[in-house]
Amino acid sequence: MLVSEKTGFKTTSPCVLIYENGMPFYARDIDENGLKFNLPAGEYDVKKGDLDQCETVEYRLMKLSAPTHFTPFPKNMELVWEANPHKCQIDVYRNKIFADPIFKTLPKYVFKWVYGHELGHFCYKAFAWSSKEEREQAEKDCDIFSGNLLLMEGYNPSQIRSAIDLAISNRLSSLCRKFNVLDKLKDIERWK
Ligand SMILES: [Zn+2]
Repeated sequence: MLVSEKTGFKTTSPCVLIYENGMPFYARDIDENGLKFNLPAGEYDVKKGDLDQCETVEYRLMKLSAPTHFTPFPKNMELVWEANPHKCQIDVYRNKIFADPIFKTLPKYVFKWVYGHELGHFCYKAFAWSSKEEREQAEKDCDIFSGNLLLMEGYNPSQIRSAIDLAISNRLSSLCRKFNVLDKLKDIERWK
C-alpha cells in the first residue's frame, strides 16, 4: 500500500499489523471501539486488519518549553551511513548527517526519532559551562521536540514509545529521559 502523504485510517478489525521495509511498523490490538491512526508517507504491507481511509488523527503535541538557544536548522544535508559511536551526528561544517548503519535494521521511526533529537539541539543546547540540570533538561527537551516532529509527520504515540525503547539505553540517566517522554505521551494519547 503506497501512502503519498500523512493519511488517517480507521479500522474495526480486532488487530492491525503493518510492515514497512520488511519490519513491523505499526501494530495494535483493538477493542470494540475500533481504532483511528495515521501513517506517514511510505510504502506499507498490511498483514492484518481491514483499513478505511479517513481524516487524519490530530494528536495534541506534547508540552515543550520555548527554545533556549536557537540556531537556524541546516538544509540540504547529505546523509552518510557509517559506524558512529554517537549513533547520529549532524555536521554543519561539512553539511553531512552521519548515521550508524544499525538504524537500517530497525523500524524507520527509530532513526527519525534519533535524527529529530539531534535537530532539537538547534533549539535546546547545553554548553561547556552549563550545569548538570541544564544538560539533562536540554536532552529531555530534544526528546520531546523529536516526538512532536514525528506526530506532525504522521507517526502515532505508540511508535514514539517504541522508538525511545529501541534508541535509548536503560542506564539510570537515560531512564529519566524515557519516563519524561512516556509521561508526556500519556497526556496526548486518545485510546485510554
Ligand atoms: Zn542530545
